[in-house]
Amino acid sequence: MRKTLYIIGLSTFVFSCTSQQNVKKTAYKPKTPVSQAKPAVKTPVAEAAKPKITNDHGAEFFTVNLADPKNNDNTASYGSIVSAKPAGYKVVKTYFPAIGQNFRQRYLILHYTALADDKSITVLTQQGVSAHYLVNNTGDNEIYQLVDENKRSYHAGVSNWRNDKNLNDTSIGIEIVNTGYTADATGKKIFVPFSDDQVKKVAALAKDIVNRYQIPATNVLAHSDIAPTRKQDPGPMFPWKKLYDEYQIGMWYDEAAKQSFLDLAQTDFATRYSEPSFIFLIQTALQKFGYYLDLSGKWDDGTKKTIEAFQYHFRPQNYDGIMDAETWAILQALNQKYPAK
Ligand SMILES: [Zn+2]
Repeated sequence: MRKTLYIIGLSTFVFSCTSQQNVKKTAYKPKTPVSQAKPAVKTPVAEAAKPKITNDHGAEFFTVNLADPKNNDNTASYGSIVSAKPAGYKVVKTYFPAIGQNFRQRYLILHYTALADDKSITVLTQQGVSAHYLVNNTGDNEIYQLVDENKRSYHAGVSNWRNDKNLNDTSIGIEIVNTGYTADATGKKIFVPFSDDQVKKVAALAKDIVNRYQIPATNVLAHSDIAPTRKQDPGPMFPWKKLYDEYQIGMWYDEAAKQSFLDLAQTDFATRYSEPSFIFLIQTALQKFGYYLDLSGKWDDGTKKTIEAFQYHFRPQNYDGIMDAETWAILQALNQKYPAK
C-alpha cells in the first residue's frame, strides 16, 4: 500500500515538474512568434502575420525581413531559404526567426577578367575559378549571376586584408569583362579602359550589395588590394574615385588632408627615402591600412608590388610602384580617415 502511494506521489511529482516546465517554456517563448505559432492560430489575421514565403521553381524565398531591423541592421534576410528535410519531421521556417543573426558577406571584391566576353563566361562557369557576378561589355542592361550570394565563389584565392584572410569565405566577387593590360617597350603596363556602361552597371550592382549587407567602405576592395604580389585587377583604369564621389561606394581620401600631409612630407621625404627606419614606417602604414606585407625595412619586391597596388586604387595617374611624396601623403590621409579598429 505504501509502495503504491509512493508511486502515486512520485508520479504526481513528476507530473507537476513537467507541468511547471511546460508553464516556464510557454512563458519564455518570444511574444510575436508565439502568437504566430499557436496551433495554426485559426484566425485569418494571425495566419497573415507570419513571414510570407513564396515558392519559385521549387526554391522558397522570404518576401519580408525576418527580424527587427531596429535592433540590428544586419538581421534582414534575403534570398532562398535552405533548410534540412529530416525524414518524418517538419522543419518550420516561420515561427521562430532569431534576431541574433547577421550576414557572412563582409567584403566586396572587384576584378577584371583579362578576357573578352565569350571567353570570360566560359572560364568563369566551366573552370575552377568563378565569381558571384559577371558584368559584360556588350552594352545591354544585363548582369550575369554565376553563384548564389550565400555560397562561396572562387575569385579571391590566397588573400588578406587587415586581420582577415581567405576572403572567398566572406566576400562577394564581381568580375568585369576587360582585357587587362599589355606591356609596352619599357615594360610599363598599359591598361584598357572600362566603358561607361560597365562602370554604371558595376556601381549599381555594388551599391545594392553594399547596402544589403552593410559592407563597410574599408571592405570594398580591388583584387590587387587583397593579393598585391599576385594581382593587378581591376587596375588603374577602374574609376574608384567616381564610385566614391557619385555612388558613395568604397574609400577615398579628403583632398585637404592629403595636401597637409604632402606639405609635411616634402620637407624631408627625399633625404629620408633610403633610411631603413623610414621604409619601415611606410611599410607599417601600408600594413595598418590593410595590406599584407613584410616589414623588412627595405624597398623589396613585395613592398614595391604593394605600393603599385595602392597606386592602382588611390593614385592611378602614376603606378610605378615607387613610393613618392604624394603616394605617402595619400596613404597617411587614408589611414587618418579610415583607422583600423
Ligand atoms: Zn581578380
